[in-house]
Amino acid sequence: MSGNDIGAISAQIDSEIQGVDSSQKLDDFRVKYLGRKGILAELTGLIPGLPKEARSSFGQQVNLLKNKLNTLIVEKQKTLGSGSGARVSEVDIGMPGISQSLGRLHPITQVINEICAIFKQMGFLVVEGPEVETEYNNFTGLNIPLDHPSREAFDTFYLKLPGCPSGGKQLLRSHTSPVQVRIMKEKKPPLAVVAPGRVYRPDAVDASHLFMFHQIEGFVVGENIRFSDLKGMLELFAKAVFGKDIKMRLRPHFFPFTEPSAEMDISCIICKGAGCSVCGRKGWLEVLGSGMINPNVFKNVGYDPEKYTGFAFGMGIERITMLKYGIDDIRLFFENDLNFLNQF
Ligand SMILES: [Zn+2]
Repeated sequence: MSGNDIGAISAQIDSEIQGVDSSQKLDDFRVKYLGRKGILAELTGLIPGLPKEARSSFGQQVNLLKNKLNTLIVEKQKTLGSGSGARVSEVDIGMPGISQSLGRLHPITQVINEICAIFKQMGFLVVEGPEVETEYNNFTGLNIPLDHPSREAFDTFYLKLPGCPSGGKQLLRSHTSPVQVRIMKEKKPPLAVVAPGRVYRPDAVDASHLFMFHQIEGFVVGENIRFSDLKGMLELFAKAVFGKDIKMRLRPHFFPFTEPSAEMDISCIICKGAGCSVCGRKGWLEVLGSGMINPNVFKNVGYDPEKYTGFAFGMGIERITMLKYGIDDIRLFFENDLNFLNQF
């Protein structure tokens, strides 16, 4: 074996590569020269048997031949195109694709849906009212007197709307209770209604306040509706949302639109009543306000307060959601941070 033989092999390679026109032929070509029992392996196997002075030069020539073959094969792969088997074999077609992230409902929407579903099961109708309200529906109709502090501008966004008649002041509703006035003016008892929606108050934003948040208002009107009906219904509701092991209690309170009025607490879902930082060491969490609808509200909507009684309740959805999921900052709901939102 000599340099001349290698020259002959090199010429043979040049001529053979011309005839390679498929990936199968390219593979055969590669195996013939570079395979484990190929021509180059054969040449390499000759080296130890050569005279000492010839080994180095022969080895170099074999290496050059090997480089030439590798270059030719890569170039031929390119000319055969991406459709060839040689290219496809570099791609793992069994690998999973890039997954697309799915959208989902906002946690506040999820909790609204969940609460509405609980009340629908109890026979309530779900309605929505407008966010721009009249001063009458937001205050006067609900027996909130002219001198009540919440009427003042710092508690309510008043609106200056073109073409609005004087005396008919418009505002962004500061609670969902005006839906009571709207529905009761439209429909006759018996009524069982829940009304979810946005409300607005000019509060400074911090971990527990926003100038826009969500409430659900609920009310029942009929003959012989009693305070015990309210209590029983609230207990069903609280256990459905927070679990059947929680305890509830009602504390006397004051609201202009209900008499008597009560705030409902549930036993702290973190410490189970023992006292912790979430419940301020009290063991109880305030969840909602409620009471028997004030007879003045019935008079305002044209119901006979001698004939009908009813109860009403209202709660903040953000607060319920924060308690349910142990969230400590209300601002998180509206920062559009996907790391937060994807947890729900
Ligand atoms: Zn606690």
